[in-house]
Amino acid sequence: MKLIIDNLSKTYSNGVNALQNISLDIPKGMFGLLGPNGAGKSTLMRTIATLQEADKGTIFLDDIDVMHQKNELRQVLGYLPQQFGLYPKISAEVLLNHFAVLKGISNKNERKDLVKALLHKTNLYEVRKQKLSGYSGGMKQRFGIAQALLNNPKLLIVDEPTAGLDPVERNRFYNVLSELGEQTIVILSTHIVEDVKELCTNMAIINQGQVSLKGNPIKIIEDLKGKVYQKTITKSELEIYKQNYKVISEKLFLGKPIIHILSNTNPGNGFSLIDADLEDVYFSQIFQNNTNQKTV
Ligand code: ADP
Repeated sequence: MKLIIDNLSKTYSNGVNALQNISLDIPKGMFGLLGPNGAGKSTLMRTIATLQEADKGTIFLDDIDVMHQKNELRQVLGYLPQQFGLYPKISAEVLLNHFAVLKGISNKNERKDLVKALLHKTNLYEVRKQKLSGYSGGMKQRFGIAQALLNNPKLLIVDEPTAGLDPVERNRFYNVLSELGEQTIVILSTHIVEDVKELCTNMAIINQGQVSLKGNPIKIIEDLKGKVYQKTITKSELEIYKQNYKVISEKLFLGKPIIHILSNTNPGNGFSLIDADLEDVYFSQIFQNNTNQKTV
């Protein structure tokens, strides 16, 4: 099973080039699509989910031509959009049963078993009788996954699912998702590096409508080995360091800025070499992209 995206491009009528020749091979498992806000992630997700058209390029899920066989794709697709409405006054169990009817699962016992299994899978069984209006953000997201799984999809797309979740809820959500990747292609679109680090066996970074890096996160991190240095500085020094080094990130630790820089050689000056992580990879990509933009 494979999703193959080839040379996909989309320009909106206002002239924004939201996708520029995107090509990706996405195998079974969890695939992280990481990029800042406005990178083009939702446009890509919505195009794969047959909710909008591209100008150019192709998408195939095995032999389904997604652009031309929309109904075939929809039968094997589960989609959790960035925002979705829920009927607040009914319970998860009743609403899931209702969605199952809409999906054409007409046998009552089969439906009951499926709803029960999905409520268990998404850790909502204990709260299945509660009204959805009382659900937390994380519970709503897990309900969204439950409804997206009703047709036992081959391809599951989740768009920015952890935005706004607290760490405990995010972890619960990760646990639910990570089980799914075993039989399905799961595409997780996110601007949160942690999501990809925790879950994904393959990933791509997309920025300004283009794929800037793709591959296995562990290999991608290895490629940055020996190139990331760190130093604790004072706030007033920050601008000077930015002018003189390729500062890819700055964080406060106990109130003091710690900067990470990219350098092929030891910069001296009190910097120490560190083990790069996915955040360094991400910020170095965004940094390079922004620098290229400036020099164009
Ligand atoms: P992301 O999901 O990564 O935040 P989007 O795909 O939503 O990115 O947006 C990519 C770019 O396309 C942004 O510059 C955004 O403003 C623009 N965009 C998105 N949707 C539309 C639309 N319907 N019409 C015009 N521009 C859009």
